Amino acid sequence: MAKFIGYQCSICGKEYEPGEVTYTCPEDNGNLDVILDYQELKNKTTAELINKNESSLWRYFPLLPVSDLIGEGTTIRSAGWTPTFSPPQLKKELGVNQLWIKDESSNPTASFKDRASAILVARAKEIGAEVIVTASTGNAGAALAGMAAAVEQDSVIFAPETAPPAKIAQLLIYGAQVILVNDNYDAAYKLSLEATEEFGWYNRNTGYNPFTAEGKKTAAYEIWEQVLLSNQLDRPLCVFVSVGDGNIISGIHKGFKDLYKIGQIKQMPRIFGCQSTGSAAIYNAYKSGKEEIIAVSADTLADSISVNLPSDGLRALRAATQTDGAYIVVEDQAILTAIADLGKVGIFAEPAGATSLAGLKQALQDGLVGEDDPILVLNTGSGLKDVKAAMQAAGEAPVISPVLGEVKKLIRS
Ligand SMILES: *Cc1c(COP(=O)(O)O)cnc(C)c1O
Ligand SMILES: [Zn+2]
Repeated sequence: MAKFIGYQCSICGKEYEPGEVTYTCPEDNGNLDVILDYQELKNKTTAELINKNESSLWRYFPLLPVSDLIGEGTTIRSAGWTPTFSPPQLKKELGVNQLWIKDESSNPTASFKDRASAILVARAKEIGAEVIVTASTGNAGAALAGMAAAVEQDSVIFAPETAPPAKIAQLLIYGAQVILVNDNYDAAYKLSLEATEEFGWYNRNTGYNPFTAEGKKTAAYEIWEQVLLSNQLDRPLCVFVSVGDGNIISGIHKGFKDLYKIGQIKQMPRIFGCQSTGSAAIYNAYKSGKEEIIAVSADTLADSISVNLPSDGLRALRAATQTDGAYIVVEDQAILTAIADLGKVGIFAEPAGATSLAGLKQALQDGLVGEDDPILVLNTGSGLKDVKAAMQAAGEAPVISPVLGEVKKLIRS
């Protein structure tokens, strides 16, 4: 029983057999959607689609386009199934009645990217790929390096040398071959494609390999299980996602589309993409009303969403336009404030992770959503990976001599 029956191009609509293509559409380089056997899946009950014994994204194995469950006893089997919180203080502060924060920092390598890399590594095993390569701003590389290490797979990572040091350290510790490029992410991306061609590696690049979105869609399945199945919502759920290349948001859209097609949800959630004003290529397209993504010269402290030309821009745009969502931009200062807001409820986010909350605040201000809309905000990554930005968000701590009088002075002020 094959669950994965082919691909469809997001630009020309052309369909391909599973063995016919590996990355993008040969006609127009469009991103490919993985097609599952929806007819077969329609006959399954909710209980048959979820293996509740598996506390990871692998609980949705019947909906995943791989044939083997790999990595028993390793960290690859703890990717996903992240917690969802509803902090009362934050609800009150924002003035919304129903709010969930899904915290991806609890993934094994501390970002959302583990979802994609777990599936990618499983796919690589299936097709017998020996070396997996990716370009990364840090998290995708760490996720690949970590998941690959778990199952003794070799990985090569191209990253900008300006990536936060904690992320680079992570790559090295997981034992990947790390290559730092003295240029930006877009340049590392291009170079990784040339190396893939030259050395015959298997490429994980975001917005290039169709399987990354298949991993990322599992967040939508978890939102379905954690929020939609256990609450009677009388309005569509509004999901806020930070966007760089646009693969997380398109993966989440794909996940909800899968569920809709097989009759597991009756109403699509509304999806809101959040970008920094310094890296707003998809927002710009959204505002222009056209499906044309024009490169920007990215400059934002949110390194994980700093992208000149998004590699999954078209599908990312449609995630909002096809679900009655929207795109929102926020200043870097608002991102720093959102890091502090999350910190106050015990969640430590990196800048890109907090961009979704900054986006929600902006959307509330602009009236795109209101107090009665049920809202879910995704924190995509851990603040421990970018301590410099965290210090900017938090400010300085006072330094005193170790005498009680000094403490008293401080406490009084
Ligand atoms: C990669 C990443 C994003 C953005 O995902 P895209 O697929 O590039 O849009 C957001 N937040 C974090 C922490 C990331 O690592
Ligand atoms: Zn095409």
